[in-house]
Amino acid sequence: MQFRSLKGIQDILPPESYVWQKIEETSRETFKKYGYHEIRLPIIESTELFTRSIGETSDIVEKEMYTFNDKGDRSVTLRPEGTASLVRAYVEHHLYNEPSPQKYYYIGPMFRYERPQAGRFRQFHQIGAEVLGSEDPSLDAEIVSMLNAILRRLGIDGFDIEITSIGCKTCRPDFKTELKKSLADRLGLFCEDCNRRFDLNPLRTLDCKVPSCIEARKGSPAIIDFLCGECSRHMNGLKHGLSLLNIPFVINPNMVRGLDYYTRTAFEVTQGSPGSQKAIAAGGRYDGLVAEFGGPPIPGIGFAIGAERIVPLIKESLTVRESPDLFFCTLGKEASEKSFVLTSQLREKGLWVEMNYDTSSLKSQMRKADRLGAKNVIVLGEDELKNGRATIKNMKDKNEIAVAFDAGDILKAISK
Ligand SMILES: [Zn+2]
Ligand SMILES: [Zn+2]
Repeated sequence: MQFRSLKGIQDILPPESYVWQKIEETSRETFKKYGYHEIRLPIIESTELFTRSIGETSDIVEKEMYTFNDKGDRSVTLRPEGTASLVRAYVEHHLYNEPSPQKYYYIGPMFRYERPQAGRFRQFHQIGAEVLGSEDPSLDAEIVSMLNAILRRLGIDGFDIEITSIGCKTCRPDFKTELKKSLADRLGLFCEDCNRRFDLNPLRTLDCKVPSCIEARKGSPAIIDFLCGECSRHMNGLKHGLSLLNIPFVINPNMVRGLDYYTRTAFEVTQGSPGSQKAIAAGGRYDGLVAEFGGPPIPGIGFAIGAERIVPLIKESLTVRESPDLFFCTLGKEASEKSFVLTSQLREKGLWVEMNYDTSSLKSQMRKADRLGAKNVIVLGEDELKNGRATIKNMKDKNEIAVAFDAGDILKAISK
């Protein structure tokens, strides 16, 4: 019986796993400098958490969630995104009692039952950051600049930072009315989903990825033209903050978040040539979500980087695999036991040491050391055991140094 991983779900093998480690390490280092703390959230939650926050009429909830009943007949869902869980934890543990703003980050897998295609997976990974407790636009600018810093430190460039404002409870109703009026006579051009959702949430038509819908909504009003005074000032604050930090940005009035709890700032980082641009990270404000989850009216903002989207962008620059400091070639049982002990002692001293585990020939052991890229090789055979000394060969400059069977002596020889 042979098994394969599920469709749209991939293994991440070495050496590519080193690229993932690099992404995670760079993100963690950057988060730390900005005062973000890691929060580890469960992968599985009650289904209602997502239906309530992401929205009943969204593609995610309607079509893409891994939802099933557990043995206790409770409906549970593998998380399709991180913000809902984070806000749930924030409210559940009364984290709003801590000094504001609270800054968190998370790294981990998300699950969506999408049609698998290039760069899209059913288990995918996000690196997300969320700040709760301030609506100051300088924080919006700061979080965008932190995202910019992470991508730059990873050596990614040639991306655009797109920003917009999607308004608030005050200005959005007017926009919805205008949008409905404007689209009413072309509804026939939109897909079935858009038509079904039109009355419940006309903003969904702006989010739809069906090509005929993208075409049909051209020229429809944009929320950015309907912002109230407060929202305009907030948007100007964000632009000012980004300018102070010299972060280039473009305003994309067509960016939307179809969910009601999203407010004001929305941003995306896109990469690729015009026409085939892909979002590699996206974020925005959600000033209504904490209250929606039964907490106080506390504002929030966050983003998530799609790890699978950035891996190909840094893969080439990072294919160097690390290699062991020392490889023990052994001949005979006694030599093998001797190297078994020395290997363990040298690892304790901080070296990466490999040894031979079987009775293969010296030639094949040398081949193995070479394949691993071992920096030094030491051979233990009968003669070496008899003399109590062995020779370390530096594989790069071919220098040889005689050493005693002593971890300290070997370490000294290698560090030279
Ligand atoms: Zn407003
Ligand atoms: Zn549509």
